[in-house]
Amino acid sequence: MKRLEGKIAVVTGASSGIGETTAKVFAREGATVVVVARREERLRKVVADIEAAGGAADLVVADLATLAGCEKTVDEVIAKFGRIDVLVNNAGIPDRHMPTTRTSDELWNEVIAVDLTGVFHLCRAALKHMEARSYGSIINISSIGARGLAGAAYSSAKAGLIALTRNIAIQFAGKGIRCNATLPGPTPTELNTPEALAGFDKEMPGITARHFDLSVPEATTEDQAAAILFFACDESKAMTGQCLTVDNGATL
Ligand code: NAP
Repeated sequence: MKRLEGKIAVVTGASSGIGETTAKVFAREGATVVVVARREERLRKVVADIEAAGGAADLVVADLATLAGCEKTVDEVIAKFGRIDVLVNNAGIPDRHMPTTRTSDELWNEVIAVDLTGVFHLCRAALKHMEARSYGSIINISSIGARGLAGAAYSSAKAGLIALTRNIAIQFAGKGIRCNATLPGPTPTELNTPEALAGFDKEMPGITARHFDLSVPEATTEDQAAAILFFACDESKAMTGQCLTVDNGATL
């Protein structure tokens, strides 16, 4: 028996990186996966890859920095599939490691809109439908940055996700709806290519690097997807409000 057989799973930020791998792993485990992001062509390729491997997938093109984009995502999935069993809030953007003193209002608002408010909007919209069926598993992708190990906006958003995760878990404990979080450590994706890193703050990455062990290997997107799958499936049915760090021990 596959671990997500028959489930309807929504994975945001699935046009690349951790979300793309997670969507493919979920499909291999029997889920019908709805992939969500802004880049339609990339989503179409992910859907085609999943279907070529014998899985089932669909897509929603949405800007999750907006309330309209989040509500449209949930509305389209419900209209087409009737339910959401699993919601992975993975879409996220970096803050280029800008510390508080170099964070503009514009950068703060941009990062919080996607990395925290968008997750709140998606959870609120999806929970209405999960509540009606007393079933659902939400996995929020936070970060080791939640400990202050990134810039001001990203760290704050990712720490906020942990509180949101626990708050949802507390509200629905024992009622069939679970909410957990994973905290990825450094994982090679488009978020941290050499080109992306070139635009980072010149001082802050060196400062935060003193607070974790960079000598351990980076995790892979497959490592991240394995932890997300664990929270998505019923093997973790007694777990809610929990955070799983996936960083090869970099922040022990
Ligand atoms: P990535 O490859 O850049 O993926 C980010 C995804 O988010 C993309 O699919 C992007 O799609 C989507 N996205 C960004 N803004 C969006 C918006 N406004 N609306 C809809 N989708 C949006 O990076 P990743 O590393 O896989 O990141 C996935 C998650 O892991 C993020 O939440 C990130 O903070 C977290 N994380 C990553 C690391 C790491 O080292 N890689 C470490 C800790 C945490 P479009 O551009 O097509 O919209």
